Amino acid sequence: MQSNVVILEDLIRAGTKARPGEVHAKRWIVIHETGNVNPTAGAANHAKYIKRLAEQNKQYLSWHYTVDDHQIIRHIPDCEIAWHAGDGRKADGGNMSGIGIEICVNKNSNFRVAVTTASKLVAFLMKKHGLGIDRIRQHHFFSGKNCPFTIRKYDFWDRFLEMCNEEFKQIK
Ligand SMILES: [Zn+2]
Repeated sequence: MQSNVVILEDLIRAGTKARPGEVHAKRWIVIHETGNVNPTAGAANHAKYIKRLAEQNKQYLSWHYTVDDHQIIRHIPDCEIAWHAGDGRKADGGNMSGIGIEICVNKNSNFRVAVTTASKLVAFLMKKHGLGIDRIRQHHFFSGKNCPFTIRKYDFWDRFLEMCNEEFKQIK
């Protein structure tokens, strides 16, 4: 598989509440936005944040990837569960069988570029895990949360799915 997606792997500690290490089949790719417009709230600082959460070991909160306008960071392997979809331990739900992607909305990151980068990552994951476009869902689908906020607000979801499909076709 040839893809121009570059992923920086910076995994959080296994055996924590954030990363219990339970392995489940992947059925969904779950799209989020961080909701944090603070200029420094890019992918690198989210990587630090999620590591700190894991070390504190108090919260069931985690996701697989963070994307900003210049990098993609993987925090948890695709095959493991994470806590991002707000649907608890629902069988085949977003937490139990979804790959969670957070798109950064910080003011120092070009959101359009971040969304384009996210579409490349989604296409890569579709190919890798044999998932169709119908398996790409908003966080909203699983729990009703208004997330991904900007994409929903500007009615950009259908275009985003088209971008994912276009990127998918480019992968050899
Ligand atoms: Zn979300």
